[in-house]
Amino acid sequence: MADILYIVVPCYNEEEVLPETSRRLREKLEGLMAAGKISRESRVLFVNDGSKDKTWEIISKLHQECSLFSGADLTRNRGHQNALLAGLMTAKDRCDMAISMDADLQDDIDAVDAMVDQYYAGCDIVYGVRSSRKKDTFFKRFTAEGFYRLMNAMGAETVFNHADYRLMSKRALEGLAQFKEVNLFLRGIVPMIGYRTGTVEYERGERFAGESKYPLKKMLSFAMEGITSLSVKPIRMITGLGFVVFLVSIAMLIYSIVRWAMGETILGWASMICSVWAIGGLILLSLGVIGEYIGKIYLESKARPRFLLREVLEDRDGQADR
Ligand code: UDP
Ligand code: MG
Repeated sequence: MADILYIVVPCYNEEEVLPETSRRLREKLEGLMAAGKISRESRVLFVNDGSKDKTWEIISKLHQECSLFSGADLTRNRGHQNALLAGLMTAKDRCDMAISMDADLQDDIDAVDAMVDQYYAGCDIVYGVRSSRKKDTFFKRFTAEGFYRLMNAMGAETVFNHADYRLMSKRALEGLAQFKEVNLFLRGIVPMIGYRTGTVEYERGERFAGESKYPLKKMLSFAMEGITSLSVKPIRMITGLGFVVFLVSIAMLIYSIVRWAMGETILGWASMICSVWAIGGLILLSLGVIGEYIGKIYLESKARPRFLLREVLEDRDGQADR
């Protein structure tokens, strides 16, 4: 018996791409079913992340017309990571493996075959890794690669050039369910789960239609979230910084004493004002970094739910079959 695959697709205002995405996903699932690689109970699970357009209407209609499509509706917009988690947790109890992918067809659907093959070869997690960024603008490439380097330099271990296109087995999903943090940064958490992992390279395309929901400002806050939720290295760096500043102050003290012994008093409005501002700036910056962590503790201590589901579309009698 072949295993059940769920493809989890978070959608936020994706009415323009859904008809094409669903067509291609259906083709893919039917192909895999015909080849006997996946069970006939496999599904595409669209997660509606509080869209303001017709996304949910389209998902419901797809579900009515074809039993391959299922849907989960969040009570409001919770962002990509939470929508993804909601989808994976919904899929967890129904599938043997789940693949998460974006709705905009940037993740090459044909990589699904290789992921499923690796799953049968014994991998519990298979990362989709983009082979090149030729199609990205220079700016996106520069910022995105900088993002992975910064993350790793800060001690937040992530898979280079892997976004959220990945396969996870049921037991990997059960592992993920045990990470209870409210601020879940999936790309950093999934490598912590362990098990045997594999990678599949794919060419990331351009967004099929509509526009990116990740402008630069969101990307920066995403990077900040990622670093502070995975590593305490920034706090250690403050300690190091304090030590360096202290050493510099000792050097300056020795220097001024020597000059004074040589009969010379150093005048210095400029040096005074510059160092006061420099140190003041560093202190404020350090407080900001520490504050970021305290904010995290504050939010985590409340343990609020990460997502709330309004509705999950289940298979019904009388539903149009494939
Ligand atoms: N998305 C979501 N909730 C949000 C923002 C985005 O579920 O608040 C989904 C979106 O529909 C898409 C995926 O996350 O399926 C990735 O978003 P997008 O393609 O806009 O990001 P980019 O590829 O530009 O980084
Ligand atoms: Mg995209």
